Amino acid sequence: VIDIQHLNKSFGSHEVLKDVDFSVSKGEVVCIIGSSGSGKSTLLRCVNLLEKPSGGKIMYNGVDILSDTHNIYSYRTKLGMVFQQFNLFNNHNVLSNCIVGQMTVLKRSREEAETIAMKYLRLVGMDQYVNAKPKQLSGGQKQRVAIARALSMEPDVMLFDEPTSALDPEMVGEVLKVMKELAESGLTMLVVTHEMGFAKEVADRVVFMDKGVIAEEGTPEQIFNNPKEERTRAFLSRVL
Ligand code: ATP
Ligand code: MG
Repeated sequence: VIDIQHLNKSFGSHEVLKDVDFSVSKGEVVCIIGSSGSGKSTLLRCVNLLEKPSGGKIMYNGVDILSDTHNIYSYRTKLGMVFQQFNLFNNHNVLSNCIVGQMTVLKRSREEAETIAMKYLRLVGMDQYVNAKPKQLSGGQKQRVAIARALSMEPDVMLFDEPTSALDPEMVGEVLKVMKELAESGLTMLVVTHEMGFAKEVADRVVFMDKGVIAEEGTPEQIFNNPKEERTRAFLSRVL
């Protein structure tokens, strides 16, 4: 689905991503792991064009979306993003959070948007909370609403940037459970995570980033049980 070639990203003179080649296939679950500052979020933000790459290509279904500006807008609607800090609209209730994007961006009618939103709110177990405001919800509930909101746009690929890092420990499980179910349903997912158990269990492929490059990638079995690179081993020994 997405094929990234020679991606570079600098902030001023600071090269944060260096010649990154990276791809995600349909139905694949890819987990990105690595130390703080290694460029994981920047990679994700370049993929959905929240950051403008300094160089390289982003191919989406064979089309270079950076060279053809007409495609950027529709490309963005094909990607769903879930952030560490939820980013819900605090003055909107749960249902409203899940329909505004559908109505404004996808031009769906309110009725259709509500039907689709309810489907995904049920999927994440939040359909009982349609009238609640975000401030009335726990962190885990907020994140499940954020996931339902992103799914309501029916994206081709879901991007998650440390979706459980801001949660109290007792709420991490409920969000990971929803993500695991999504993965099993065949959704294409790109997940930056510190949850090594999740990566081990759910990922088809694990990508280890170090200082702006992909230092190593492979199946969870290869990365966790038999890493080739010394720096992968060093990282894992710090986090496992
Ligand atoms: P973490 O695990 O802490 O989230 P990360 O792997 O996601 O780390 P990034 O957020 O991608 O790392 O940051 C990589 C580097 O890019 C860091 O050195 C960071 O300071 C720098 N950086 C990120 N965003 C910006 C920005 N908008 N302006 C300047 N520097 C930035
Ligand atoms: Mg990050």
